[in-house]
Amino acid sequence: MEEYLNKSKISGDIFRFLYLNKQSSRQEISQSLGISLPTITRSLNTLQKSGFIENAGEFQSTGGRRAVRYQCIPDSRYAIGIDITKNHLSIVLIDLTLNIIDNKRLRIPFHENSEYFSVMKQELESIISRNMPDCSKLLGVGISLPAIIGEDRKTVTYATVIPLSLNIYNFFSDYIHAPFLFFNDASSAGLAESWKGDYTDAVAYLSLSSSIGGAYMNNKMIYAGANNRGGEFGHMTIVPHGKRCYCGRYGCLDAYCTANTLTDFTDGNLKEFFDILKTGNNKGIQNVFEDYTDYLAIAVNNLRMCFDCDVILGGNVGAYMADYIDDFRKKAIQLNPFEKDGSYIRVCHYRTEAAAVGAAIYYIEQFIQNF
Ligand SMILES: [Zn+2]
Repeated sequence: MEEYLNKSKISGDIFRFLYLNKQSSRQEISQSLGISLPTITRSLNTLQKSGFIENAGEFQSTGGRRAVRYQCIPDSRYAIGIDITKNHLSIVLIDLTLNIIDNKRLRIPFHENSEYFSVMKQELESIISRNMPDCSKLLGVGISLPAIIGEDRKTVTYATVIPLSLNIYNFFSDYIHAPFLFFNDASSAGLAESWKGDYTDAVAYLSLSSSIGGAYMNNKMIYAGANNRGGEFGHMTIVPHGKRCYCGRYGCLDAYCTANTLTDFTDGNLKEFFDILKTGNNKGIQNVFEDYTDYLAIAVNNLRMCFDCDVILGGNVGAYMADYIDDFRKKAIQLNPFEKDGSYIRVCHYRTEAAAVGAAIYYIEQFIQNF
């Protein structure tokens, strides 16, 4: 049967198998894929000569010949992620296993002008030249934006956090000389967390920054919804006729759980808010945080009721939640009629670079799938 299989398909299957299983032996690959040992050996040799896999030592053995372990070479390809927010520009270079190889984060307000794009181009090119003698290893550049992105990943269908013009893709193309596409910031961040956490089933990601967004993923794939607006958790109504949201409606989660709810008390500085909170002797700040987490608990419980999966707290606020997670889980579980264990609520892995990493993942995934 296997004679009929395309040779490159076998190499692709082996490469994907090694990518998913981290390390494996010839025998294991042969058994799992149902392909004969000689064919596996030939393909492994070709993959090794092409620089995509390597010998990673030997498995421990209780007797007989030890089996050689093979693994993918993480830096055989790279992808770049750029995260553009209202006041920051982040660029990351990641390898196939999502390790951040190089990164740069600048405080620079976004303006759709040549000055801004020239800075971006300069930083991008210096990261590329530092890590790649030529660009042949670069798969592409994913750009994360605080906007809703069209299905073609080249158009912006809704943007209020930063103003973006209709021909923004063309504007970028004058400054980026590699394949590039746009991605929603919160979806990207969620994707990065689901890959890093190795979630093979469902997981919801709640991004808590100056605006609220999120993503729902199953087996590391985003559920985009019918209009690419799946996971817009920020505009779930949690208080009827409540506070006004930037979208113009009332009572949205965003109006209660934007990071600004906290930083309004510390001159826009989130670190300072959490520094003061940690001292435990500022009643005002403690009350603000109590109110904030009351509303957040409603949102998190709603996500649990909808999806019955882990919920990751991410974004700028999520990055500080590790110290308060036990109390927060108790708060959320009080709203839950089915469970007494709040361990389904997780804190994000990445503190600042999730959206940039997630935007780059698109190119990694395409490479693995099409290998
Ligand atoms: Zn809203």
